[in-house]
Amino acid sequence: MSEGFIDELHNALGKGAVLSGSDIDARYHHDIGGNPAPKPRAVVRPRTTEDVSVLLRLCHREGVPVTTQGGMTGLVRATLPNADEIVLSMERMNNVEEVDVSAGVAIAQAGTPLQKLQERVEQDGLMFPLDLGARGSCTIGGNISTNAGGNRVIRYGMTRDLILGLEVVTADGTVLRGLRKYIKNNTGIDLKQLFIGSEGILGVVTRAALRVFPAPAERQVALCALPSFGQVMAFLKLAQQRLGGELTAFEAMWNAYYRQTVERVKGVAGPLPTNHPFYVLLEASGSDAERIHADLEQLLETAMGDDLILDATLSTSNASAAAIWRIRDSSVELGRSFPFAARMGFDISVAIDRMEEYADTLDARVKAIDPQAFTIVMGHVGDGNLHPSVYHEHTPDKHDEFEKLVYDLTGEFGGSISAEHGIGISRRPYLKMSRTEEEIETMRALKRALDPKNILNPGRIFTV
Ligand code: ZN
Repeated sequence: MSEGFIDELHNALGKGAVLSGSDIDARYHHDIGGNPAPKPRAVVRPRTTEDVSVLLRLCHREGVPVTTQGGMTGLVRATLPNADEIVLSMERMNNVEEVDVSAGVAIAQAGTPLQKLQERVEQDGLMFPLDLGARGSCTIGGNISTNAGGNRVIRYGMTRDLILGLEVVTADGTVLRGLRKYIKNNTGIDLKQLFIGSEGILGVVTRAALRVFPAPAERQVALCALPSFGQVMAFLKLAQQRLGGELTAFEAMWNAYYRQTVERVKGVAGPLPTNHPFYVLLEASGSDAERIHADLEQLLETAMGDDLILDATLSTSNASAAAIWRIRDSSVELGRSFPFAARMGFDISVAIDRMEEYADTLDARVKAIDPQAFTIVMGHVGDGNLHPSVYHEHTPDKHDEFEKLVYDLTGEFGGSISAEHGIGISRRPYLKMSRTEEEIETMRALKRALDPKNILNPGRIFTV
């Protein structure tokens, strides 16, 4: 970086847009666990797409690396600056610019917090279906760059399925104006897909056209206890048959997750006893409250009669539905309730009919390293996605060994080492467990073509 480059940024982008030295707040270089990364050379906070373009044009000329930040809720160290990087924070581009009710589209700037978008479209009787625990802080741009999943993928798909168009600035400052509002568009390569889930290494998303749906008038939640994982699978199939498009979530919790959450997390109450092998949270939504209620009651009756479920409770109000969701959404609080730092969370995909075997094998291999270590498992079973956690209080030095164990096992099961959180820096050594050498080389070719000087989030996902 040449001397005077920061001054040049100041001049080009105006006062307030560029922070340097002691003006840089700790939040730009600490992860959500509070772990520090090197302080960036500067933090740039654009207000417009044009600002982003000016910044990248200058950084491209100078070969200065840039890491783009949203809400900083990522879990794979993708947005923490490396030494000498400039942080591009999207926090001042945080507006929902338009809600087009008739087209079912919302246009949002990339720094818009997910919850802000959800609440804005609600005012028009609409719903943006993407939902995850970090909703209050995570941003639309971050959701796009990680192709976020969350709790309603079974009905509405991943973030990728909710994007109609993107405006993106590429590494040399070129603006790709692809903010289109229609679903069907077969006019050559669908460029927006390159920027969804690629963790900001190919371009910076500045605005997005997002699909929104009529808000369901009714949302009902059932919590069920089941005797085995075989019954969990059979219950999923039955729920899909009976509820069709009304089924909006199917979340499974192994006994340890439900029991420990109910016992350890403040403010969480368990409506069912804690001694059952498995629990399922099932959500049904629709416009006709009476029909949803009847369908759900009938489903539970059939499942009970077929010995699929042992016990069940049905929400009777929004408050009781929220209380059930609270159990499922308390995974972070559960982790923090253990008074030691040696705990690790994962987000893997594996075929549903091998999930139980995966969880059992994982637990056995973890205990082979440390007999006092244990695992806690839950996940979006309807999407083939598990969130296993490994707790190893007495062997904190074995972090890397446990990590390798989980990813090796996932590779053996032909699964994906990241269903939701991405690769970033943390999982880079394990990318090859889920992608072939030819696939990774093709990713590198795309990176070289779009970012020849390797300035955008360099070293994330893979090295070039
Ligand atoms: Zn998840």
